[in-house]
Amino acid sequence: MSYGAFPRRPSRAFRVGKIFIGGDHPIVVQSMTNTDTADAEATAQQVAQLAKAGSELVRITVNSPEAAREVAGIRNRLDQMGCAVPLVGDFHFNGHKLLTQFPDCAEALAKYRINPGNVGAGKKRDEQFAIMIETACRYRKPVRIGVNWGSLDPALLVRMMDENAKSAEPKDAAAVTREALIVSALDNARRAEELGLGGDQIVLSCKVSGVQDLIAVYRDLAARCDYPLHLGLTEAGMGSKGIVASTAALAVLLQEGVGDTIRISLTPEPNGDRTKEVIVAQEILQTMGLRSFTPMVIACPGCGRTTSTFFQELAEQIQSYVRAQMPIWGERYHGVEDMKVAVMGCVVNGPGESKHANIGISLPGSGENPVAPVYVDGRKTVTLKGDAIAAEFQAIVDDYVQSRYAARTSEELQDQPA
Ligand code: SF4
Repeated sequence: MSYGAFPRRPSRAFRVGKIFIGGDHPIVVQSMTNTDTADAEATAQQVAQLAKAGSELVRITVNSPEAAREVAGIRNRLDQMGCAVPLVGDFHFNGHKLLTQFPDCAEALAKYRINPGNVGAGKKRDEQFAIMIETACRYRKPVRIGVNWGSLDPALLVRMMDENAKSAEPKDAAAVTREALIVSALDNARRAEELGLGGDQIVLSCKVSGVQDLIAVYRDLAARCDYPLHLGLTEAGMGSKGIVASTAALAVLLQEGVGDTIRISLTPEPNGDRTKEVIVAQEILQTMGLRSFTPMVIACPGCGRTTSTFFQELAEQIQSYVRAQMPIWGERYHGVEDMKVAVMGCVVNGPGESKHANIGISLPGSGENPVAPVYVDGRKTVTLKGDAIAAEFQAIVDDYVQSRYAARTSEELQDQPA
């Protein structure tokens, strides 16, 4: 990476379906459904939507016998839809029972997420944790040891707080809590390895809801192990706050080379689109130059020189269009996800920004001639005017994709992840 980004932190790697996590493999985008898993049809539909939006792993909650009973059926429905995205089972409290009572669920899932704070208490905790890990070993499934400060193992936290209180230089409670998160993740990973799970079958996460806490926890965790790390700001919240907080936290860590998979835990608006969390995750990685998923539209913010909302509408239309086309373009052409399209509001920065993009259009600002020069690979190729500018520009984008990017071979198509 250029731009001063740190090299990727070295970590072990493993495979989940066609996706690799860790090592030098691309940072994986994950998401989670919010349907009742017992409703197999609704869950399969939402998983397919998330996968279509670009989620490379999808987690579903497995919280009851009714849910566990449906997991294999959900897998079958997805396979029939041609959606091979790996399913991750999210277990709390009763995972040991569900994985034992529903072997087809244990088999159908590609990975298990175990929250060590929600496995049970005392002696039962060790037994129940062991049952889940032994099941993962039997079915050859990797496991995420997923610690969350909303459900941190209370016995561990009390013990560490007591030890801290007796120490000569006690730390503040927040520092002890951060340390307890890390200790919980590392101790449970070690225990899982003692139970027979390969060290290269484990990914860790320590999620908190504060930006600075998350950065501090992951910096420390990253320095103390070589397991792949799943990043996410838990309970990030709604709308712009959730996006900004997640981006602020993850960008710092990703820039430092920390993080092998990410999830953006956005609270959707009522009846809102769940796929937003996938798009935000992709946009974080793409705007940081870490991965490319879909052509990016560069647009100016507009100002007193813009004569109407036309250029905002055109920018929005082109962004929606390229995103909608990407599943088709991505299958057919190499490298189209790296394309940049500029939609600019006037002559001040329009031609310059357009020349930096693959394709750019500079719309007329106030007082300018009502014409829109189009630039392709840095050269002005045509000047559009009249009512059909949007349609004509979209056609130029289409033509560019077809002529500029090489077609994929049939072998490459078979190797593509779902
Ligand atoms: S490019 Fe023109 S319209 Fe856009 S913000 Fe700059 S001056 Fe304003």
